[in-house]
This record gives sequence, C-alpha cells and structure tokens, in this order.
Amino acid sequence: MHKGQAKKELKRQLNALFKSMDFVSKNFLNNEKISKRKLQVYFNIYQQLGLAWEYLGLQCSHWDGYKRTRDKKVACKICGKIRGTDDFYILLSKKGPKKMGMKAKPNSKKTFETKKDAEIINDTIDFYGALVNVDVHNSYKSSVLGQGISIAAERIVNVKEENVECSIDQRLIHVRLRYKDRKPGKKKYGGFPWEIKRKHLEHFPVIFDFDEKYRFLGLTILK
Ligand SMILES: [Zn+2]
Repeated sequence: MHKGQAKKELKRQLNALFKSMDFVSKNFLNNEKISKRKLQVYFNIYQQLGLAWEYLGLQCSHWDGYKRTRDKKVACKICGKIRGTDDFYILLSKKGPKKMGMKAKPNSKKTFETKKDAEIINDTIDFYGALVNVDVHNSYKSSVLGQGISIAAERIVNVKEENVECSIDQRLIHVRLRYKDRKPGKKKYGGFPWEIKRKHLEHFPVIFDFDEKYRFLGLTILK
C-alpha cells in the first residue's frame, strides 16, 4: 500500500475506534443506573477496544508529530500514543525482511551489582523453528564465581537449529553439536589442530577456508 494511503486508512480506523471507545465510556462506564454485572461486561469491551488501539498504534509512524495532552504529556496526533512509552507488542510485516529492535551493545563502563541491573536485552525468537537469542549486558559482579570476580560486558548472539548451536560474542565463535547418546557430565577435550595427532584429526569433518596468504576465511563442518 502507498504510504499516504496507509496513513489515511489508519487515521480512518483509529477515528472509528476512538468513537467506539467514547461511546462505551460515555453511555455505559459513566452511567450510574447500570447494574454491576453489565458494567463489568462494558468494562471488558472497553479493555478489548484498548487492545485494538494498541495493535493499530503499532502501524503508526507518528507522521504528523505530537501534541500536548491535558495531563501535560506529549501524544501522537494520529494514534494518541504517549511519546517515550514502551510498546507491549511488536509489529512485523509479512512480506520482506523483518526487523525487530535496534542493535544493542554494552553501554556502560560501570560494573553493576547484579546481573539484572547489568542487562540491556536478553530476548529470544523462535523463527520458523530456528531459535535466536540475543543477550547484551554490561559488566556485573558474579554471584556464582565468587567474590571479587566480575563478568565482562558482552553482546552474545546464539542460534540453535536442531542439534547444532552457534554462539557468537566479541571474542569467540563457538559451534556445538549435541548428540543424544552423549551422557551429561562426560569429559570434553579441546586443542588447536597442530596439537592433535593426524590420525585423530581424521575423525573431524572440518574444512578450513583460507586465502593465498593463509588468512583464515572460515570453516565448513560436514554433518
Ligand atoms: Zn502515532
């Protein structure tokens, strides 16, 4: 839909919705003669209209700017959303790439007392069966590792697809394969390729990508 047209249509829908909300409010919610039971029904209707308002408001880009409300807040001229309040829902377009949230990075040099205080975002999406988690936090004092030890500020992106898990942070890219028959608590070993004997290396289905100067370009793991 054309942008101007989308705006016009949204304005029309919102105006109709506001009329319905006013109607319910004026005739039923502020009507002293109404029974308690009926009042609850109209109250619920009003709440549901409020939910519709929240959803419609997600489509608004607040094209016409803001106006001052009676209680001295600043609200969008079209959808009435108060500037600076957090949305409860997220609107994603069905077509084209989907964007959710801004890229978050650690934003403080401070070491926070708790993990919760240091958290910037820790959110997960199940996207057509693939799990993506983004965990961004500032530095905080560890409650597990003992006193005086702090966890560094970090941005960690984790992707899970079937039994493969890939975790990317500022220093490491870690790929983990989970086997159903591997018992928890079993030992895990690690080493650079040159530390491992050739006959053992042959068990690893890994291909290194590199350029003519042997600069590492990536790797492929055969499943
Ligand atoms: Zn708006």
